[in-house]
Amino acid sequence: MPTFDYAPAPESRSIVDIQPSYGLYIGGEMVEPIDGGRFKTVNPATEEVLSEVVAAGPADVDRAVAAARRAYDDVWSRLPGRDRGKYLYRLARIVQERARELAVLESIDNGKPIRESRDVDVPLVAAHFFYYAGWADKLGYAGLGPDPRPLGVAAQVIPWNFPLLMLAWKIAPALACGNTVVLKPAETTPLTALAFADICQQADLPPGVVNIVTGAGDTGRALVEHPGVDKVAFTGSTEVGRQIARSVAGTRKKVTLELGGKAANVVFDDAPLDQAVEGIVNGIFFNQGHVCCAGSRLLVQESVADELLARLKRRLTTLRLGDPLDKNTDIGAINSAEQLDKIRMLSEVGETEGAERWSPPCDLPERGFWFPPTVFTGVSQSHRIAREEIFGPVLSVLTFRTPAEAVEKANNTPYGLSAGVWTDKGSRILWMAQKLRAGVVWANTFNRFDPTSPFGGYKESGYGREGGRHGLGAYLDA
Ligand code: NDP
Repeated sequence: MPTFDYAPAPESRSIVDIQPSYGLYIGGEMVEPIDGGRFKTVNPATEEVLSEVVAAGPADVDRAVAAARRAYDDVWSRLPGRDRGKYLYRLARIVQERARELAVLESIDNGKPIRESRDVDVPLVAAHFFYYAGWADKLGYAGLGPDPRPLGVAAQVIPWNFPLLMLAWKIAPALACGNTVVLKPAETTPLTALAFADICQQADLPPGVVNIVTGAGDTGRALVEHPGVDKVAFTGSTEVGRQIARSVAGTRKKVTLELGGKAANVVFDDAPLDQAVEGIVNGIFFNQGHVCCAGSRLLVQESVADELLARLKRRLTTLRLGDPLDKNTDIGAINSAEQLDKIRMLSEVGETEGAERWSPPCDLPERGFWFPPTVFTGVSQSHRIAREEIFGPVLSVLTFRTPAEAVEKANNTPYGLSAGVWTDKGSRILWMAQKLRAGVVWANTFNRFDPTSPFGGYKESGYGREGGRHGLGAYLDA
């Protein structure tokens, strides 16, 4: 059968204007660091250096927290909710107006396909600001008491997998509730946060309400441990989450932690298999599998396992890996050399432990960080690839015979962030949703996000909820 190739359809990068170097966004201005150094941020698809950013030092963090405190005391906490709402609507609209620029910038700095940054990340960023803008003058009706108060200054540390979306998840509810923020983006993906600083200026947001300090882990630590901070919100690895929980124990700081996951995507024998295949692909290969709630463990009922796997492999041969800016690309670059090493290491462990490894034929570009979509079959529950978060395009397949066995295997993990169920029976969906120890359970779909819906985990996946009415509770003293 002849196969047809797609002609290249690259999105133009001329819409973005990346400066050779950036300062820190503190008190409404871009400022030079006091004690910070500098580091380079690269395009993971090409290893090209994009810009130089500041690794903020303790004095820089101190200055940012002081700016946030001043803005909180003098302006933001005194502003009526309806006025805070107006600023949030303005931010949302500017994000929409600059959507194409933000999507291209995100794909360049992160490596994710433009199709995802354009159709998922950036629209959800705007949706989060719109949603929380609506809450700003209705906090008394959120079920948190008649007059809930903001906490003060929020320290927010976010990862590299959804840089701008995680910024929106953190900043929108914090501001709606009357808090001011100091946010640290991840070391490898600072550029869209710096573009957001520009958006704050464009929106005339009062100086100091949002402050952005770039840097690595040390900057994050200095920020969350700063005594002037009232609230810590972190998304990232369980290991760093644990360190943060220890460092704030015994202080007055309120904490939310959104950590890792090892979600089960459970397919029953009565599921519509082609739809399930799409859901499995979306569950683990969306965003190169760099998703905390990724469906990284496929649990499939034994009687349909061969059929499902055959269809899945056929589908995977049609995925296109390559230039993140090409509108036809399904799988982009791995975000960093470090993350690529981790994915390679755990995949080798999977083979050594006896699981069978398969990838579709797939040419990897010579430069940049790349990993082909990979499926492991014959995985048992004790394998490391069934227990540890790989955070890459790697699926571990296990089988089960009865619904009770599916529940037991799905819950056999230290994590509890998300899960998926594929079945024709509504009653089975409800039964599974009750039994699965996961913060989010998707039914006949996967990786769907909506600002109105709370998101968060059990056990080692962290605590607290982001999104929806529940997300307000994390930023209010009620
Ligand atoms: P980290 O948890 O180290 O990074 C998350 C954020 O925390 C980054 O901004 C990071 O800065 C910052 N940070 C690092 N150390 C500290 C500290 N001691 N105190 C405060 N902030 C800190 O994740 P990694 O990027 O190192 O990824 C490691 C693994 O974590 C991945 O392989 C993946 O398995 C998992 N992960 C899970 C995520 C999730 O959403 N569940 C998201 C990201 C990673 P910097 O970027 O400079 O390191």
